[in-house]
Amino acid sequence: MKTRKRDIGGLLYGVAALGLFGALAWAERRRALRAETDDKGTRAVRNLAVAGVTAVATQLAERPLVAPLSRRAERRRVGLTYWLQRRTGISDGARDALAVLLMDYTLYVWHVLAHRVPLLYRFHQVHHSDLDLDASTALRFHFGEFVVGAPYRAAQVALIGVSPRALTAWQRLTSLSVLFHHSNVRLPVEVERLAALVITTPRLHGIHHSIVRDEQDSNWSSGLTLWDRLHGTYRANVHQDDIEIGVADHRDPADVTLPRVLAMPFAEAPTGRRPDGTVPTRDEPRPPRRRLVP
Ligand SMILES: [Zn+2]
Repeated sequence: MKTRKRDIGGLLYGVAALGLFGALAWAERRRALRAETDDKGTRAVRNLAVAGVTAVATQLAERPLVAPLSRRAERRRVGLTYWLQRRTGISDGARDALAVLLMDYTLYVWHVLAHRVPLLYRFHQVHHSDLDLDASTALRFHFGEFVVGAPYRAAQVALIGVSPRALTAWQRLTSLSVLFHHSNVRLPVEVERLAALVITTPRLHGIHHSIVRDEQDSNWSSGLTLWDRLHGTYRANVHQDDIEIGVADHRDPADVTLPRVLAMPFAEAPTGRRPDGTVPTRDEPRPPRRRLVP
């Protein structure tokens, strides 16, 4: 019975994820948020190839570490959320919801580290080096980022005390959220302002993918915008038309072919400068930082 329930849950998630990806890809063609600079089809194939390698690496490096730790947390009732449940008597549902919330927060912290720690940024830069930002970028993570991140993920699960049910829920919710906010879909700005009160949206994440360092150092949340708001890293005041997507070091499509992208973390260290040596900046006066602009 339990297996059957899990199968149906997995099936529903699969349908939701594919459906969302298809709907976003369709909407991106009809109502693009930002003008595209590179060929969409070529980028999609490349990003899917990067994702395929990462999916294999995740199965080999992360899953064997994380899944047993989650089962152990449940079996031995250890970790922060189980401890809290013993102290306060909260329900299993509330404990799992808290675990999902804390996974979302600690993923925010990981994302900050992925930008701040030079070794981690070598891998994370691959994700940012996409010259356009759309739903396929959501799949473009270098396998090395997941391999070096596996111990962190393991620590998250063990310390928070994430049950298998909570882990699956977090993985599914996060993947849907990541697909959504990477998409290049123009939503009415009023709708996006409302959504941004709760979750990261395409315009917010577009600012995170800006070539300007100061803008890249904002909107690190992958789920709730609460974490960016709490840490003062929420930023909504950059017009999408003004954003140049990507990283300063790699501006030429010939620089971001599949072999180049896979080798990127092992090539020269990122400099934060364009090939001509200049550092991207933005000087114009801005609206208030939290004001979401079109
Ligand atoms: Zn990032």
